[in-house]
Amino acid sequence: DTTHGVVLYLEDITVSFDGFRALNKLSLSIDVGELRCIIGPNGAGKTTMMDVITGKTRPDTGTVFFGQTMDCSKMTEPQIAQAGIGRKFQKPTVFENHTVFENLELAMKTDKGIWNSLFGKLSGEQLDRIAEILTTINLQDSHKMRSGLLSHGQKQWLEIGMLLAQEPKLLLLDEPVAGMTDHETERTAELLNSLAGKHSIMVVEHDMDFVNSIARKVTVLHQGSVLAEGSMEQVQSNEQVIEVYLGR
Ligand code: ADP
Repeated sequence: DTTHGVVLYLEDITVSFDGFRALNKLSLSIDVGELRCIIGPNGAGKTTMMDVITGKTRPDTGTVFFGQTMDCSKMTEPQIAQAGIGRKFQKPTVFENHTVFENLELAMKTDKGIWNSLFGKLSGEQLDRIAEILTTINLQDSHKMRSGLLSHGQKQWLEIGMLLAQEPKLLLLDEPVAGMTDHETERTAELLNSLAGKHSIMVVEHDMDFVNSIARKVTVLHQGSVLAEGSMEQVQSNEQVIEVYLGR
């Protein structure tokens, strides 16, 4: 077990839109090296929570702690990204006219916004790291392929690889298997399971079979706060959770 300390701590976060509380005193903490799944019905506040973590939405009250002490609640989106929180949105956004390798190269060179190194050559160490990432995301045989020609699933993996190239301290993944085939979904579970322990990852996902195949710990959001938290078996047998999902 490689966990030591907390990578993210949300304390009493409230966000209102026109008086409606999308997040209601939400508190949540993620350990270093954890792979955490966030589930909950539509409107539970999952997207708003991701937006608060990345600085896209400011909380009305409450604090976002990154690492043990860094208060992110008043930082800008680029500052938070630079501090090491990487987010992948639902739709893949790779550079379609560039090869798989070039996409990873660009991601690595823009690591933490250091654009001035864009025209320099990659070091041997960086090349090794790209080779390692290509293997991790199962695209080692496609590194010369134009990204626009990849399948939807492969584009998603490439984008995860691009995030990894930037060495984030926390990875946020928004519905990574949406639109994937069953086979791609299985490969994605393998990919995330291989990253678990080495990276701190938070996944928002609707696909329960997928959640079951990766989750060590699950947090159920409902009406802007945590309804239940624990292993998949624990939350699935929680009466309030059953009511929220079946009573919808
Ligand atoms: P989830 O991602 O779990 O489906 P959201 O975070 O998207 O939930 O939304 C939580 C609630 O906040 C919903 O009821 C949604 O309609 C509302 N909401 C989200 N963003 C806005 C916004 N920009 N303006 C008004 N209401 C919003």
